[in-house]
Amino acid sequence: MKNPFEIYNTVFEMPVIIDKEGCEGCGTCISICSNSAIVLKEVDESIIAEVVSELCDECGECIEFCLRGLIKKVQVACELVE
Ligand code: SF4
Ligand code: SF4
Repeated sequence: MKNPFEIYNTVFEMPVIIDKEGCEGCGTCISICSNSAIVLKEVDESIIAEVVSELCDECGECIEFCLRGLIKKVQVACELVE
């Protein structure tokens, strides 16, 4: 079935992101990601988690494991490219 959004030449993706404000780098989300799509990085002398979008399949399993509620899916509109 054709994606109904295609008639507007637009699709919506739902990438998973981590709100870096409040991340304490505990690593819980890293341990449950079977794609190894979450890494720790140092930003402004703090260690935070970040999703590597190329490895993430947007399964959403990590979302409930952050006790701080920092992992979310966001809707992003993308123009279709012929
Ligand atoms: S579980 Fe939450 S606080 Fe812990 S590293 Fe992941 S995003 Fe940061
Ligand atoms: S959504 Fe799935 S693949 Fe992506 S970072 Fe979370 S657990 Fe890993």
